[in-house]
Amino acid sequence: MNKASIYGLTFDQLAAWLMEYGHKKFRASQVWDWLYRKRVTDFSEMVDVNPDCIQLLADHFTIQTLDEHLKQESADGTIKFLFKLQDGNLIETVLMRHKYGLSVCVTTQVGCNIGCSFCASGLLTKSRDLSGGEIVEQIMKVQLHLDQAKQDERVSHIVVMGIGEPFDNLNNLVDFLQVIRDPKGLAIGPRHITVSTSGLADKIVEFADMNLQVNLAVSLHAPNNELRTRIMKINRAIPIEKLMQAIDYYLEKTNRRITLEYILLKDVNDRREHALELVELIGERRQLATVNLIPYNPVDEHSQYQRSEHESVRAFYDTLKKQGINCSVRLEHGTDIDAACGQLRSKQIKASKDNNLDQNRTEAG
Ligand code: SF4
Repeated sequence: MNKASIYGLTFDQLAAWLMEYGHKKFRASQVWDWLYRKRVTDFSEMVDVNPDCIQLLADHFTIQTLDEHLKQESADGTIKFLFKLQDGNLIETVLMRHKYGLSVCVTTQVGCNIGCSFCASGLLTKSRDLSGGEIVEQIMKVQLHLDQAKQDERVSHIVVMGIGEPFDNLNNLVDFLQVIRDPKGLAIGPRHITVSTSGLADKIVEFADMNLQVNLAVSLHAPNNELRTRIMKINRAIPIEKLMQAIDYYLEKTNRRITLEYILLKDVNDRREHALELVELIGERRQLATVNLIPYNPVDEHSQYQRSEHESVRAFYDTLKKQGINCSVRLEHGTDIDAACGQLRSKQIKASKDNNLDQNRTEAG
């Protein structure tokens, strides 16, 4: 049986676990330091930790559960990693360079059940949730890549926007957030962390109650139910009214800003009338809401959707701005590699299926 990832434990969980086995609490600080500051990849490298403790850790946990399967580097410095999990599944993680620092986009599930109609990831339904440790390890692997380049660069921002619906894996997501925020470890400030949801209203409420101080982004993508249901089938179960109630609860409870993600699809949701409807929907929430416009990255699997013209993006942005809505257009990263979320993974899976098919055909003669 595969051993669990040590990265899945929060500091308190690690300390409690070690103490159960008769070790002093300071051992947890030592181990934590080796994991997150010195970033070793094998327990045997923890040279000042007593050998019994090292053996105990090695008997129950592993540090490495992800294998780098493929890496694509873009001219703008974006790096897309495809990792193989212990069970053979593939997941994507992306490193992006911004003026304000380095951000990593992590995946939370193998596949996704939300089935947004524009998304390459949603074509492959969820086969399982990632553990908290597997989510943390994505960041560790990227940080180790940076360490090896010896440019003294540090991952400073995290976006939970990769494959999967993070709120459909809430417990593991919360463990992950606790680990990466810990000031004794990776020390990523909560304001530098953004979790993005397709709009699971009940989970937004639960998340607000946890008061984790991290940023929340909600994928809206349409200003009315008819259009949103067409783009995101989740809207049938959780219509915009219910989503907005949850957002209001979140704003009231946390007093934090929220980002509304809006992917621009040519002639589908990018007209002036949609922008005006969006303004109306946001209404009084405008003080605490920012709309993030995302020009669509076309994928072969969804040929019904095209990228909005540059002028339409500009006009949409201007309409929102003129009506007093905070708004930005997402900068693109890695346009020369498989830039859309899930694209690299789905291409790899398709290629290996095609290979198998070809092999079977050859074998069948
Ligand atoms: S956009 Fe996100 S929530 Fe929607 S199908 Fe893709 S991975 Fe799932």
